Amino acid sequence: MVDTLSSWGRYPAFPQTPHFTHWRGDLSDDLSDLASSYGSTLPYGQGRSYGDSCFAKTDHVLQTAYLNRFISFNRETGVIVAESGVTLEQVLSLVIPCGWFLPVTPGTKFVSLGGAIANDVHGKNHHVRGTFGRHVLSFNIVRSDGQKITCSLQENSELFSATIGGLGLTGVIESVELQLIPISSSKIDSSTIRFGSLNEFFSLSDEFDSKNEYSVAWVDCHVKGSSTGRGVYMTGNHSDSGDLTVNVKRKMSVPFTFPFSAINKMSLPLLNSGYYHLHKAKPQQAVINYEPFFYPLDRIEHWNRAYGRAGFQQYQCVIPENNAESAMHELLAAIASTGSGSFLAVMKRCGDIVSPGMISFPMPGLSLALDFPQSSSLNSTLFPRFDTIVREAGGRLYPAKDAHMSGEDFRTFYPDWKKVEKLRDPALCSRFWQRVIS
Ligand SMILES: Cc1cc2nc3c(=O)[nH]c(=O)nc-3n(C[C@H](O)[C@H](O)[C@H](O)COP(=O)(O)OP(=O)(O)OC[C@H]3O[C@@H](n4cnc5c(N)ncnc54)[C@H](O)[C@@H]3O)c2cc1C
Repeated sequence: MVDTLSSWGRYPAFPQTPHFTHWRGDLSDDLSDLASSYGSTLPYGQGRSYGDSCFAKTDHVLQTAYLNRFISFNRETGVIVAESGVTLEQVLSLVIPCGWFLPVTPGTKFVSLGGAIANDVHGKNHHVRGTFGRHVLSFNIVRSDGQKITCSLQENSELFSATIGGLGLTGVIESVELQLIPISSSKIDSSTIRFGSLNEFFSLSDEFDSKNEYSVAWVDCHVKGSSTGRGVYMTGNHSDSGDLTVNVKRKMSVPFTFPFSAINKMSLPLLNSGYYHLHKAKPQQAVINYEPFFYPLDRIEHWNRAYGRAGFQQYQCVIPENNAESAMHELLAAIASTGSGSFLAVMKRCGDIVSPGMISFPMPGLSLALDFPQSSSLNSTLFPRFDTIVREAGGRLYPAKDAHMSGEDFRTFYPDWKKVEKLRDPALCSRFWQRVIS
């Protein structure tokens, strides 16, 4: 029996049956076979999306994990060509020793190139480099009618833009040509500083974001009043000194799914306060490996199991600059007042570099990502409250993290959904798309 697949949040529970594709040359046949057997399917990378955007409407997905070969790597120009199932971890292992790095990386390296394009992922350097899609020179995409189409900003540009952030709906990306960035060391010069309020965060971000390649903040969601929004602000830059080594650390693992969530009303205040006080009020500088800087959670395999059998939901929104501070206050106050809290609360100022993607998530402003153990009150009470704040502030939600957004909200947040729908491959549809479009 084949093991079924889920998304990272393990909510909602729609077990996905994987159908593996192994060779670029077979992709077209594999896609049309699936379409004729089940009606439609969806490409599935590493399942690091949280909600239902990586679930096929039919619950039969086309798994790309074995499309994991490099095709070429130009060590002079830093351009790689690879199959779409290659993960960011594989890319880093190949390119770091040669003095190259990913131009943009999300908070986990266990993401496929195809998945990184389909959600047009962003990282801690959005303010200087924009989204992942900006660094994609071209890709080949296979459609269910047997066509293989090369897309770039110059060639088939409409399909290129619809596919970047296009949620896997416009065809199966077969291979990707990506421009890397040069580095002279795999170490990161990092700096952390505590801030006592949201207001202090904005001052730090105004002063330091533009001077650093990477910046991000962690927020303590449990405090109320004048300390609302206190947290830890972190910056980083690729170091000039040190060698070019790939970090291979032994991993810890959560061996089984907890019967209930270990992240709960009792543990959360302690975790939050402990993490806040672990950091000093004065700036702390350190030269650290890239792994703990970019991927602190990757060290614990299956950490999502700690949220218990019911799984968890992430709520990620971005609020435009002019309303960011007030809306963020409202969101954090709403969380603190319910006591529900989140441990992984990450705030990031997004910049104004425009993505080629038609329905990419980031916009200039402030993004907030929060993880909550699943409970029915999220969708009935807390998230609707958040949604009102986000809607009124002119913000939007991130489909890659979503399991609750209403169709009306999605269509308002992403008016270009119609262009993507026009270019959607009729053999591809997700549970997310079915939820927000029909
Ligand atoms: C710990 C953690 C931290 C994260 N941090 C960030 C972050 O900082 N920034 C951010 O933007 N995201 C972040 N994410 C989300 C993650 O980066 C995205 O969800 C990413 O798209 C997952 O890639 P995947 O390979 O797992 O794709 P999946 O989750 O399997 O699929 C995602 C989408 O890609 C499509 N897809 C996959 N392969 C192909 C293909 N070959 N052709 C066409 N479409 C394809 C799927 O149909 C689906 O729509 C994080 C996730 C985790 C678990």
